[in-house]
Amino acid sequence: MVVSKLKIALVFILNLPYTFVGLIMGLISYPKSIRFNKNPYIIIIRVKKMWWGIGYLKGIRAATIGNVVLLSSKSKNKDLEHELVHVGQYQDEPLVHPILYFFELLKNGYKNNKYEVEAYNKADNNYYER
Ligand SMILES: [Zn+2]
Repeated sequence: MVVSKLKIALVFILNLPYTFVGLIMGLISYPKSIRFNKNPYIIIIRVKKMWWGIGYLKGIRAATIGNVVLLSSKSKNKDLEHELVHVGQYQDEPLVHPILYFFELLKNGYKNNKYEVEAYNKADNNYYER
């Protein structure tokens, strides 16, 4: 369908600023490999260490920034599935997702914010205390 292809392109473009940030964060995290996925368009970068994680991000195993998924060497089974849920959230809320996520984080913290609850439930993966 033409309309859905247009929508996919529009959503991709709206999230491009975050995708660029994701690429930069991947580049500074000692990248080991990079993989491109189509439908949805995702760039999966395996990295050695996300040393820049501070605060609630300290010791993170994986991250999604726009259409970029970063997986550290500490990533566990189903972490990719978890991040794919976040990719879907970016697509459902183009451009504004990180802002909405941030407010949700302020309100409910990391573990109990609705985006993480959805991701942990759908991916059926576990949160480990860091
Ligand atoms: Zn998450």
